[in-house]
Amino acid sequence: MARTELPDARVSPRFAGVCTFGRYPRLEDVGPAGRPVDWAIFGVPFDGGVTFRPGARFGPRAVRDASQYLKRYHLGHRVDVCEALSLTDAGDAPIKPYGIKATLDAVAAWATSLADPGTRLMAVGGDHSVAYANIRATWERRGKPKGGLALVHFDAHLDTVDAVWGESWGHASPFRRAIEDGLIDPKAMISLGVRGPLNTPTDLDFAAKAGVRLVSIDEARASGAALLAAYVKALGGREAYVTVDIDVFDPSVAPGTGTPCPGGLSANEGFALLRALRGLHLAGADVVEVLPDRDVSGMTAMLAAHVMFEVLALSAS
Ligand code: MN
Ligand code: MN
Repeated sequence: MARTELPDARVSPRFAGVCTFGRYPRLEDVGPAGRPVDWAIFGVPFDGGVTFRPGARFGPRAVRDASQYLKRYHLGHRVDVCEALSLTDAGDAPIKPYGIKATLDAVAAWATSLADPGTRLMAVGGDHSVAYANIRATWERRGKPKGGLALVHFDAHLDTVDAVWGESWGHASPFRRAIEDGLIDPKAMISLGVRGPLNTPTDLDFAAKAGVRLVSIDEARASGAALLAAYVKALGGREAYVTVDIDVFDPSVAPGTGTPCPGGLSANEGFALLRALRGLHLAGADVVEVLPDRDVSGMTAMLAAHVMFEVLALSAS
C-alpha cells in the first residue's frame, strides 16, 4: 500500500475539491491513529519581513493551487514519492501579521510539536524570515545537533544582513540569526546563486568570515552540480536543511517574487542542482518568497510546487 494515498485523478479531477499541497491528505486525516508521517508540509502566510515588494503572504495558497497537477513518480530519481513517503498538508502555521518576532516565535512553537516527533517539516512561505522559525523547530526536533544543522541555501541574496531599518528579524537576516543562535553551522553551509548589485562591497563579509561556502550564480551554473555532490559527500551523513528562495531562479521563470534579480537560474538548471543533492540526509526544508500578485500566469507558484516535489523526491530516493 502506498504510504501516501492520493485521490484518483480519473475519479476526482485535479481541478476539483479542496486544495492541499500535492493533493496529499490533511494532517487531521492521517491522524494520530494513522501511520507515522514522514513529511508535514505547511504554509506560513506571512510577509511582514519584506524589504521591498509585499505579497508573499499569498504564497502558500498559490502554491497549494499550483501543486494540484504534481504527479507522484520522479523520473530522474526513479522513485514514486507517494510509495516511499507518508506526506501530509498540516495547514497553515499561526502567524501575527503585525509582528515579525511574534510570528517567528508562534510558528516555531507550533511547528516544534507538529505531527510525529520524527516527522520532517517543509514550510512554504511567506517571505524568507519564516525560514528561521522552521529551522529552529527542525533543530529542536532533530535533537538539537551540537554546532547546528548543515544548510543548503538557494537564493539571489545571502540574507545575512544584521538589521534593516532597525529590525533584526526581517527577510534579509534569517541566516545571520540562525548562525548566531547556533541553529546552523556556517562551516557546513553552502549558499548558491548570489548575484546582482550589492549595497556595499562588504555585504558578503559576515558570511565569508563565518566560513559559509559562497557559490556565485556563474559558479553555480558552471560547476554547481559537482560542488553539491562533493558537499553531500563531505557531510558524511550529517543532516542538512534545504532552503529555497524562489528568487534564485531568473525572473523570466519566477517573476512573482519580492526582490527579483535578473540573471538567475533557469527552471532546469535549478532542478539539476537540486538533483545533485542526491544522497543528502534531509532534516527539513522550505520554499519561500512566492508573490503571486506579481505573476498573473501563476508560473512562479507552479515552479515552487515543483521545487517542493524535487525536495521530497530527494528525501525518497
Ligand atoms: Mn532570501
Ligand atoms: Mn532572495
